[in-house]
Amino acid sequence: MTEHYDLHCHSTASDGALSPSALVYRAHQQGVSVLALTDHDTTMGLSQARSCAADLGIHLINGIELSASWQNKCLHIIGLGIDPDYEPLATATAQLRTSRLERAVKIAEKLEKKRITGALAGVQKAAGDGMITRSHFANFLLSQFHVSTQQEAFDRYLGKGKSAYVSTTWAEMALAIQWITQSGGVAVLAHPLRYQLTASWMKRLLAAFKDAGGQGIEVITGRTNPDEIKLLANYASSFGLAGSVGSDFHNPVNPWLELGRLAPLPETVQPVWELFDKSVSLVGAN
Ligand SMILES: [Zn+2]
Ligand SMILES: [Zn+2]
Repeated sequence: MTEHYDLHCHSTASDGALSPSALVYRAHQQGVSVLALTDHDTTMGLSQARSCAADLGIHLINGIELSASWQNKCLHIIGLGIDPDYEPLATATAQLRTSRLERAVKIAEKLEKKRITGALAGVQKAAGDGMITRSHFANFLLSQFHVSTQQEAFDRYLGKGKSAYVSTTWAEMALAIQWITQSGGVAVLAHPLRYQLTASWMKRLLAAFKDAGGQGIEVITGRTNPDEIKLLANYASSFGLAGSVGSDFHNPVNPWLELGRLAPLPETVQPVWELFDKSVSLVGAN
């Protein structure tokens, strides 16, 4: 049987709209047979996702999307097949929860100065037990009619250098990769083209990423076009990195970013799932 992979998506444990079990259910409906739940800086959604995946007979891979710093840039590193109970990783996610809350308080204070009130309570209510992200603030601004799109919220308030921007110190990329690999996972650079790097910076990044123990890059995402796929496939081959496939699904409102609706990985690229230790990472009905 050919497996159908989606190795990047979000639940209500971070900034996704669906609960972990609703997400797994939707993935199953979309024909996904191997799913990685990769919430921002948390593994809290995994246990609920795992029990739903077992019921449906879909393979669930323990995942996470860690925010990390490299050369003053914020990058996202996906961990696939991690052990959420691995002590250093669990400590790091607990710390990240605190940092995200502190950042949320500061963002809300800056918004207050712009006479936008109630943001902290609003995002806390929306995030529930999950991680508070800037998307929660964007949704709040949208719901209160301060902006008309999510993007406008970033362009006017939340983006780097804007009035409610708060810089955060994330873990160094090498450390984030270490948490992932030492917990038994594979580290994958998420959506490499979203950092707006020049070709020479991209090459420096990929060399440093590989050097630090990174093993894959996302070649197929919900947004990549054929030219970008070709470019990413070339990067993967020239840096000896495997290719991953992930929609970065957040909510059912964006039908163009549906779970599992992904182009095939080019044949020149080694699939990242060949690196998984199946006995550990794949959980499902067998
Ligand atoms: Zn990301
Ligand atoms: Zn993501």
